[in-house]
Amino acid sequence: MLNDKVAIVTGSTSGIGLGIAKELARLGADIMLNGFGDAGEIETIRKDMEREYSVRVGYDGADMSKGDAVRGLIETTIEKFGRLDILVNNAGIQFTAPIEEFPPAKWHAILDINLSAAFHGIAAALPQMKEQRWGRIVNIASAHGLVASTHKAAYVAAKHGLVGLTKVVGLETAGSGVTCNAVCPGWVRTPLVEKQISDIAAQRGISQQQATAELLAEKQPSLNFASPAQLGGTVAFLCSAAADQITGTAISVDGGWTAQ
Ligand code: NAD
Repeated sequence: MLNDKVAIVTGSTSGIGLGIAKELARLGADIMLNGFGDAGEIETIRKDMEREYSVRVGYDGADMSKGDAVRGLIETTIEKFGRLDILVNNAGIQFTAPIEEFPPAKWHAILDINLSAAFHGIAAALPQMKEQRWGRIVNIASAHGLVASTHKAAYVAAKHGLVGLTKVVGLETAGSGVTCNAVCPGWVRTPLVEKQISDIAAQRGISQQQATAELLAEKQPSLNFASPAQLGGTVAFLCSAAADQITGTAISVDGGWTAQ
């Protein structure tokens, strides 16, 4: 389905981003990986994906907290692969604290990585996509792009902002062959959530297993995690012809979280 397409997935060295990158590669797209981590491990991921899916896979460690670096990632990818068809803005971080204690540096870091990076990436990618008269922009927001929780001021603000940005870009690109949508996952068991489970276990003096059950019971009626592979499937659907008229919207993959 995606043969001859080129996709960038930011924050794809781990978790949801890696699940999305693998699904797009499985469908035939060349991939530019991005994110932090051990250089040797990243190179192993890159080579394994090339071998398993018979596509070209590059890696660029651009820091998504820096607007110029985000724009550089788009340029480098177009130089390397000659085109750009799919941009998945996925890199994200979390920090939790009551607002009076929320460190301003954490506020800025979350806004930069979880929101502003998508602005810079989209602005830099659109000319190429418009010229090609086809493009897919998928912003990985969150259930927290639609509803709030306590102690997540920066994250909820950034993710609501990302859903708003998605609507604007959907309108500005309508009819151009480019679509822009947000995907809003509920809990997905990745390092980002593993830390929150450990925090709950430590604060309440309970086991990891009990903390996991509490985390799910509080928000996610299905009582199951969504998986990175399922998020990959959602992004792949948005890249399919069936989704040509889906733009400017947010799709929840949250086990019923936001239906409540
Ligand atoms: P993760 O911690 O497993 O992965 C985050 C990725 O982003 C990693 O590859 C990391 O290296 C990269 N990254 C972090 N800071 C970066 C920076 N400055 N520059 C470049 N790359 C950077 O987390 P995840 O759970 O897979 O999260 C991926 C996205 O999904 C995030 O936007 C997150 O907010 C969102 N999300 C996650 C969940 C969940 O339950 N895990 C739920 C809803 C939304």
